Amino acid sequence: MQKHIYIVSQSGIKPEYAAAVEDGVKDFMAMFPEYKDDYPITYLGRWRDDNSVITALEHARVPPEERNLYIPTTDGNYLVPYASTDWSMAIAKYSAFSHGRPQQIDASMLLDLMANDPTVAKIPQIDIHLVKDDAFAMSDGRPNNFVYGVGQSDTGFVLSVKRFEQMYGDNPEYLKEVIKTIAIHELGHVFKATVPGRHNVANRDGYGLHCDCPGCVMRTDTRAKPNVLTNDRLDRVAHGEPPLCPECIAMTRFHFAELSGNFERQQQAALDFNLIKRRTRDYS
Ligand SMILES: [Zn+2]
Ligand SMILES: [Zn+2]
Repeated sequence: MQKHIYIVSQSGIKPEYAAAVEDGVKDFMAMFPEYKDDYPITYLGRWRDDNSVITALEHARVPPEERNLYIPTTDGNYLVPYASTDWSMAIAKYSAFSHGRPQQIDASMLLDLMANDPTVAKIPQIDIHLVKDDAFAMSDGRPNNFVYGVGQSDTGFVLSVKRFEQMYGDNPEYLKEVIKTIAIHELGHVFKATVPGRHNVANRDGYGLHCDCPGCVMRTDTRAKPNVLTNDRLDRVAHGEPPLCPECIAMTRFHFAELSGNFERQQQAALDFNLIKRRTRDYS
């Protein structure tokens, strides 16, 4: 079964950032060539459905209990729920505002919207939302200060370029490599590279479950910041190595096999994972 990977962007995102995300997704899928055709990648930009806007008159005819999900536009029309990137971003901005964070966007809300999107039932998909505003996510029921990116398994991820632009804006080539690195990292979360009970994973410094293997792009703690992950990834690229460590790759391959529903592939992936597990030194 095919599952699309759709990349959408908030209005005002530079095309080269979207291209960097797309490159990251391609690099990720290159580690799993047998599943590449099952996950076609499409960049939709500032996506909108043909019926993404309705007039005030049409809005008045919407059932009252659904009406408040529509977002008024400056020209007196209304954005239809789940019908455009503008609508998702407006909801996530509104949520941030209600948390007292008017300058930010609520990335957890974007993930919720992806998960509840009624079109997902018709067109199976992984969604990637590229955001130019600063973003935060909910952590144990409370908003954290900010996130570079946040992913949800089998749903998608949100990536904010705001802080990367501030930190690496004077080095555009490096900035693109950082965005690419974080896209690969978040896709690792989407496809369950670092699941509970696996070897060499830990929740360090409250960042959630990440890999402990040296050089792996799935690490994250107070020391393994985006630039460290990026430098390590570029070093691995220079040595012809994939961005994820063998254990993360084997775990992700197992999840791809599960999703495929192919029993033989699942058995093979489980065997391969156990072999890798035995071969990999315990770093924790
Ligand atoms: Zn992470
Ligand atoms: Zn790893």
